[in-house]
Formats: sequence, structure tokens, C-alpha cells
Amino acid sequence: ASHRLKGIASVRPVTPDGKEMELSANISSLKELDIALGSGTYGVGLFRTEFLYMDRHRLPKEEEQYDVYRSVAEKLSGRPLIIRTLDIGGDKQLDYFELPEEENPFLGYRAIRICLDKTDLFKTQLRAILRASAYGDVKIMYPLISSVEEVQSANALLEEAKRELVAEGIPHRSDIEVGIMIELPAAVMIADLLADEVDFFSIGTNDLVQFTLAVDRMNDQISHLYEPYHPAVLRMLKTTVEAAKRGGIHVGVCGELAGDIRALPIWLALDVDELSMSANSILPIKERLLCMKQQNSRRLFDDLMVCRTSEAVKQLLHDFNQLAE
Ligand code: PEP
Ligand code: MG
Repeated sequence: ASHRLKGIASVRPVTPDGKEMELSANISSLKELDIALGSGTYGVGLFRTEFLYMDRHRLPKEEEQYDVYRSVAEKLSGRPLIIRTLDIGGDKQLDYFELPEEENPFLGYRAIRICLDKTDLFKTQLRAILRASAYGDVKIMYPLISSVEEVQSANALLEEAKRELVAEGIPHRSDIEVGIMIELPAAVMIADLLADEVDFFSIGTNDLVQFTLAVDRMNDQISHLYEPYHPAVLRMLKTTVEAAKRGGIHVGVCGELAGDIRALPIWLALDVDELSMSANSILPIKERLLCMKQQNSRRLFDDLMVCRTSEAVKQLLHDFNQLAE
């Protein structure tokens, strides 16, 4: 089977009725990049940068980060690379960085909230990303955005970093594209406003499911309630993609659901631009995409939207996918 799949690594990911999908990789290390390139990845839709900050005793310097970002950008030889700024906190801790003990770490001091508080830390990363952007199609993505103000504050620091680089005569992309993760219900509900502020959305279904259903994604005792096919989640996805389309911006998906073969008709029906997933999922998803009509997915989606339960959603998807097999 893997031999058969290898054969489609260089085939264009397009449905029989002409919908082309960007199939990209999520990476959190340099090793994963090689697997992605072997699968004919469109680009990197999510570069998780936490590993640079973890398993060490101090913050990574600008130069260290720049070296890593630049080498990934160069290895991608022109393919898009979305670098997500630090998403620490919640389940991810740093030994050398005093994070307060919190009752609810997932709702606490984390991700963009830390970056907008510790602006030196944030600007160091922004400068490193900007410098690497001179060597590839690099874009910036902010995690855990809940408001327009947060985007504007982050962008103000980005502009500051650009001004510094200009003054220092250091090359970078002054028109670097900026996007945000849509992973909080608040972001979904103001997606129309956020679309005016950024160049792209990437839907983080892992956190979006967790926060929509108020189900801790790390808690085994309630894992049966963590249901990506909940009708509430479907409505969140629809609202987000429609807001992106109306705003004329690129929209992708980078949570686990992007690489879940059962969900593919949903993305085709919504007409998302990009699916970013673990590198191992790219070829299986592409194989299915090559034989699945967008038109049929759209008809299915109308039926999904009137399902009253997760079970009903999953049953319809199951029946539809059986036909595609
Ligand atoms: C997500 O929340 O869906 C996501 C892609 O980010 P992470 O899993 O790193 O929180
Ligand atoms: Mg997330």
C-alpha cells in the first residue's frame, strides 16, 4: 500500500471535478520536514516552534532561531512555510521560565498572551522569523487569538521589529503575510472582523473542539466527550470558512481533523484552501481526494448541517465514505 501511495507523491491534489487542495505538513522538528518533503508536500502549514524553547535551560537567542527557520525555509525551496509564534503554556511548560501555578492552565497565561506580556521574548522571535523570510515564502501565524486588539498589538510589535531591521540594514520581507489560528469560539464569532486584520486563517480544531465543548483535551476521563463531529463544531467550521471567503482571505485547517480521512468531504464542501496535517497523512488523504467529487461533498454537507447528533453526523459521513472506498 505504501508503495502505491508513493506513486502519487508528485500527482496534483485535485478532485475529479477540479477542486485543488493544498496538502501541507505540520512539523515540530527538522526531522519531520524530510518525511513531509518525501510525501510531496505543498508546504508547511504549521511549524510548531515550541521545541526550540523546550528541553533546555534558557531562552533561544535570535541567532539560534534564525538558523533553524532559515534552514527550514531553504529546504522548502520556495514552498510556503507558516511559522507559528510561541504557543507555550497550557500543557506545555518551560523549566527556566517561571509560569505561575494556575487553576486552569488551558484558560490561563499562555501563547499570544505571554508574548504580548513579555514583548522582548516575542520580538526576538519575530526578528528571527523576519530575517528568515528573506530566504523563502515565510509567513507568520499567531496562536490563541481571541480579539482584534490582540492581532493589532502583535502586528504593532511586528512593525517595530521590521523598523529595527531596516535601521540595521538586515534583509527581510517587509510585506510578510500574517495569519492567525482560529481555535477559540470567540474568534469564530468575530471571524468577520478578524478577516479584515489578517492575510489568512488556519483553523486549529484540536483547541477549537476543546473550547467549544468545554472538554479538556488531555483528560482521559472525559475523552468520550471530546467529539470533533459534534454539530456545534460543524457550525463553528462553517461560520469560520464563510467569514474567510467573504473577507477574501486564504483559509486552511491545521488541527488533527485536517488529516482525518472521514472529515475530507467536510473540507471539500466548505471549499477550504489548505489542509495541513502530520506528514504521514498527506498521501492517504490525497489518494481519497483524487476520487472524491466536491459536488457530492456539498450535497452531503447540506444533510450534515441538519443532523441533530454527533452519531448522526458520523453515520452519514461513514456511509458516504464507504461509497468512496
Ligand atoms: C490546534 O489547536 O488545533 C493546533 C493545531 O494547535 P496545537 O495542537 O499545537 O494546540
Ligand atoms: Mg492549538
